[in-house]
Amino acid sequence: MTQPEAGSFTLFRVAGITVFVHWSWFLMAYVQFKLQGEEYSGPAWVVIEYITLFGIVLLHEFGHALACRQVGGSAEQIVLWPLGGIAYVDPPPRPGAWLWSIAAGPLVNLVLVPVTGLLVVLGSAAGWKETFPDLQYYLVSIAVINLMLLIFNMLPIYPLDGGQILQSLLWFAVGRPLSLKIASIVGVVGGVGLILLALAGGSIWMGIMAAFLTYRAAIGFSHAKMLQQIAEMPRRPGLSCPACREGALQGDFWRCPQCGQPFDMIATQGQCPQCSAQFDSILCPQCGRSHPADAWQQAATDPYAGRSGTGA
Ligand SMILES: [Zn+2]
Ligand SMILES: [Zn+2]
Ligand SMILES: [Zn+2]
Repeated sequence: MTQPEAGSFTLFRVAGITVFVHWSWFLMAYVQFKLQGEEYSGPAWVVIEYITLFGIVLLHEFGHALACRQVGGSAEQIVLWPLGGIAYVDPPPRPGAWLWSIAAGPLVNLVLVPVTGLLVVLGSAAGWKETFPDLQYYLVSIAVINLMLLIFNMLPIYPLDGGQILQSLLWFAVGRPLSLKIASIVGVVGGVGLILLALAGGSIWMGIMAAFLTYRAAIGFSHAKMLQQIAEMPRRPGLSCPACREGALQGDFWRCPQCGQPFDMIATQGQCPQCSAQFDSILCPQCGRSHPADAWQQAATDPYAGRSGTGA
């Protein structure tokens, strides 16, 4: 397992998923703490509120990670940093698997809406606004924060969850490259819109967030162009990737990790013609997974090969 970003450290490990926190998260916590107004009677409540926000974001990311596992993908890391959480998920390259892995995050917030709302209602029925004003204010804050997180994440701006859900839905209809292309264009337009909103509202934080989203959407667009180019390349009959079912590429599309020479890994049975290095498995340039040569053969003849992992 690789360390995710520089500057993040392990917080804990549960169910095979390691949770990392980036140092800047603490800086952000401190800034928030300093900026906090007079809503609470003591600083302890500010800390409790921030830790609860942390917990909600974490639950959201676990939603992604566990759903990804359920459909046979891998998910080993969650990183929390000031712009939110990132669950490093790698679902199998099928639109349904992606849709579920992405939707499960906001679904956690959706489930929390009635839970947090009910607590507010109970609190005000019990008269906590008068007897425990801090507690009641906290309950309202948490309900609002959760709802805001849900709404923000569901904006159809790639790579926000809403944008990725849009992409997965389009994937069913138009295939992966075009779905990513459309979603990332919508993402760039939406991201620029958010930047303008942030400028108009004078919100630096939202501006940084929006700029980051726009940048990521632009990367999504170039990734889509690459996927499209690969989709148009010649195929070798009788071989297909066991993971993504795409036909094996025919040509010098593999680069030898040892000497850097491009070669056709399938034609040479995994042996580099320049340095004679031998590789046991063939990498699929389309989904980034490696499989032994016989698995590629089997996948082409048996339509159900490689379709393991529909949950455990
Ligand atoms: Zn999410
Ligand atoms: Zn593949
Ligand atoms: Zn080589």
